[in-house]
Amino acid sequence: MADSFNLLSLVRPNLRDLKPYRSARDDFKEGMLLDANENPYEPFGENETTGLNRYPDPHFSALRDAISSYRNVKPEHIFLGNGSDEAIDLLIRLVCEPGKDALMITPPTYGMYKVSADIHNVTVVEYPLKPDFSLDKSDIIEKSKDVKIIFLCSPNNPTSNSFDSKELKEILDNVNCLVVVDEAYIDFSSKASLTPLLDSYPNLVILQTLSKAFGLAGIRLGMAFGSEEIIQYLMKIKPPYNVNALTQQIALNAFKSVDKVAERISSILESRKKLESELAELPSVLKIHPSDANFLLVQFKDADGTYQKLAKNGIIVRNRSNQLHCEGCLRITVGTEEENSELISTLKSL
Ligand SMILES: *Cc1c(COP(=O)(O)O)cnc(C)c1O
Repeated sequence: MADSFNLLSLVRPNLRDLKPYRSARDDFKEGMLLDANENPYEPFGENETTGLNRYPDPHFSALRDAISSYRNVKPEHIFLGNGSDEAIDLLIRLVCEPGKDALMITPPTYGMYKVSADIHNVTVVEYPLKPDFSLDKSDIIEKSKDVKIIFLCSPNNPTSNSFDSKELKEILDNVNCLVVVDEAYIDFSSKASLTPLLDSYPNLVILQTLSKAFGLAGIRLGMAFGSEEIIQYLMKIKPPYNVNALTQQIALNAFKSVDKVAERISSILESRKKLESELAELPSVLKIHPSDANFLLVQFKDADGTYQKLAKNGIIVRNRSNQLHCEGCLRITVGTEEENSELISTLKSL
């Protein structure tokens, strides 16, 4: 670990001693609930007892415990948010002083890091990936002195490759800022998560989500794993009820069916392989980048034309051709078997 990492010195001064929102239920766990001005009756339109007239658990304890056993990360190292997007927002808010501080991204990468930085009026320093989509680590390390956070996405969106874990460790070892590794696609990856490093690297934050492999983008549940100290700060600055009751219930259920989730992941990976070989045979396809995720970055002879024609045929993909090193590339999510065959036959007909 970098010798002089000191979280307190990174945290914005106004947040160091912040007194978070407290409710009476932080002091008393059981009893008749006349403390929060909730409605004592169940909501209309529901046939069963839902408990939805009550505020959700602000500490999401049951869900945190379930994630803890599934991911093998201690509960005190786990923060949950309204999607990873909320965790990204809160991490920036925690350490970056608006109008003064900066963070680093490595384009081409996920767009929300920059959008969130822009919302907070935080400068974005860009250190692009090499043309083969690998990290330029010496540059990143050298320039880390000017930033509060480095966002690295592995497997990376939209390039679909993972970074070498030795290189990620080398960065963690040599910088004194926060290093956020976004593992949104880790369950599709052949590489292991960095979660075992959490105990030895207090500057590491790992983001994961239920939006991709768990098929639950609609419930908005993101996870941030980090040191106990970072997690305590995030818990303090979050909106008190940021993970709603329905999301907590559905996520808890999902962790009861992890075997089925694993089967789904394997079947998506098989479909990806098939889709890849079928795309490779099309004359309009120039290159398929090796994927470690549930999507393919595909270079076409005429990306813009193909994108438009697919849309006219009712098939929406993502045009990434204007992103650095992604000239001519469309990003295609692996769909169901039927969707993938329809995509291939449509591409053949164009
Ligand atoms: C899809 C995706 C996410 C998921 O964000 P949520 O807010 O959890 O839905 C996060 N990071 C990357 C890189 C993604 O592609």
